[in-house]
Amino acid sequence: MDRGDTVADMPAETASETVSVTGWGRTAPTSARVIRPRTYPEAVAAVRDCGARGGIPRGLGRAYGDAAQNAGGTVIDVTGLDRIHVVDADAGVVLCDAGVSLHRLMEVLLPLGWFVPVTPGTRYVTVGGAIAADIHGKNHHVSGSFARHVTAFELLTADGTVRTVRQGSPLFDATAGGMGLTGIVLTATVRLQPVETSLMSVDTERAADLDDLMARLTAGDHRYRYSVAWIDLLARGAATGRAVLTRGDHAPLDALPARARRSPLSFRPSRLPAPPAFLPDGLLTRTGVGLFNELWYRRAPRARTGELQRLSAFFHPLDGVPHWNRVYGRGGFVQYQFVVGHGQEDALRRIVQRVSARRCPSFLAVLKRFGEADPGWLSFPRPGWTLALDIPAGLPGLGGFLDELDEEVAAAGGRVYLAKDSRLRPDLLAAMYPRLDDFRALRAELDPRGVFVSDLARRLNFQEPA
Ligand SMILES: Cc1cc2nc3c(=O)[nH]c(=O)nc-3n(C[C@H](O)[C@H](O)[C@H](O)COP(=O)(O)OP(=O)(O)OC[C@H]3O[C@@H](n4cnc5c(N)ncnc54)[C@H](O)[C@@H]3O)c2cc1C
Repeated sequence: MDRGDTVADMPAETASETVSVTGWGRTAPTSARVIRPRTYPEAVAAVRDCGARGGIPRGLGRAYGDAAQNAGGTVIDVTGLDRIHVVDADAGVVLCDAGVSLHRLMEVLLPLGWFVPVTPGTRYVTVGGAIAADIHGKNHHVSGSFARHVTAFELLTADGTVRTVRQGSPLFDATAGGMGLTGIVLTATVRLQPVETSLMSVDTERAADLDDLMARLTAGDHRYRYSVAWIDLLARGAATGRAVLTRGDHAPLDALPARARRSPLSFRPSRLPAPPAFLPDGLLTRTGVGLFNELWYRRAPRARTGELQRLSAFFHPLDGVPHWNRVYGRGGFVQYQFVVGHGQEDALRRIVQRVSARRCPSFLAVLKRFGEADPGWLSFPRPGWTLALDIPAGLPGLGGFLDELDEEVAAAGGRVYLAKDSRLRPDLLAAMYPRLDDFRALRAELDPRGVFVSDLARRLNFQEPA
């Protein structure tokens, strides 16, 4: 299986070893004993043996922060459970192990005319990680989050039993977005999206500033299955929030040129060599990123329709460069993502202005309009605006600056995304996630000894009773 080749600092085939573990942002490494079960009984044994500091499941380590880490305890690497059990190619349903990556699913399913129902900006995430973070994609406004397409999963809980958990039950809703804290998802049944081709038909347009961008997204998103905007957070003055929108859908067969129609469902993403393991810090300067952003904006067409793009280029451009997270140097980077509801556009404007004024060298900033919220108690999306940006962790004063943004987000009734977080203050969590008490109560019953615990759970006091 292609594991994406990037699980940070973790040996692939070791049964149990103490190593340094980080998230994708590489900001807060901690040491843990890593166990990689290959069978369900081995997974049960791993939970039983995880010791006084507990354990946390881990997929491909694409959460940016400390969600899949457990300092001084056990990390249970689920990628060894990697079988695809059943593909129902008529109904469009797959039953697979939770350690299977979305990349692998695409390799197997695309030739059969099916695509994953939701994909994040990287296909190197596992099905278990997708459920645990209840991930969203560019189609959230149409399709909701990942768990909406999961009919059932098997969950290995703290007492060592395996439960079948069906959509609509409280345990399902606690696990979808529950960041691995209810147990280990072992298998899942996922409904798929039918496609005629592996190409995307993409419309691109430029927006002159943030208000223009929001107006275009509001007026046009309903016409597209997928929609996202890259936003230039270094632009200032009248250009603050200028952006390039890309929206599209799976290309129908008759949109392909004759040559491409011979193998319309082929999936061959290209990969470049990885950057060196140790790049100097400070590579991403304001000037460099400012130049990049300027070029990116200028080279985008003012308006173009129906461009055919490969799936990998449209959904996962960064996956073409393994270990691209190294460009931020040893200090790593923070990914900050929040959502504020419709009607809170002023809060979004203020935050964008503050980030622009602060001159954060962010070249990976995206704005998206979410659709309906999902039932997961700690699921991140809610109807409104979500902004995600990367910031080098070493930026002076970053901690205090982001704390202020958190307060602005919380005051607007919004929340930050736990799968990206490594630094939120615990006192804001309950305001951001109103079902936190339900989650804590369920966990207190399901896992009274606190077997499942992570650095994120300790930092944010998930284990505290309400
Ligand atoms: C380049 C990039 C782009 C991204 N874009 C998006 C995006 O567009 N939308 C989005 O929503 N997210 C996005 N993400 C975040 C990513 O989708 C999530 O963090 C996802 O959870 C990572 O899955 P993973 O398999 O790597 O899990 P890990 O990072 O290893 O773990 C993440 C969480 O899942 C839990 N977990 C993992 N496996 C299991 C299991 N089998 N059972 C129970 N819990 C488990 C862990 O305990 C942890 O809490 C992006 C990340 C990157 C690096």
